[in-house]
Amino acid sequence: MRIYCTECGEKAVIRTSEQISKTTRKLSCSCTDIQCGHTFVVDVVFSHTVSPSAYAMPEKVREAIQNQSPSQIRALFLPLA
Ligand SMILES: [Zn+2]
Repeated sequence: MRIYCTECGEKAVIRTSEQISKTTRKLSCSCTDIQCGHTFVVDVVFSHTVSPSAYAMPEKVREAIQNQSPSQIRALFLPLA
């Protein structure tokens, strides 16, 4: 992940990284421009799901799907026309 200084736009270095919650990580950053010297904190926050996790399905359904061919799995998840 590339972070840029919010003051001068130069690349920044992530000094420390701390998981705050299941969906938020806090990065302590320092600007690489020594004349700038800006240190700052960036929050990386989960936004939204694009494709749901297979773990959201019941285990028995996951096991049943694992025995299917890739084309059968694709057919299962195609939107109904
Ligand atoms: Zn800077």
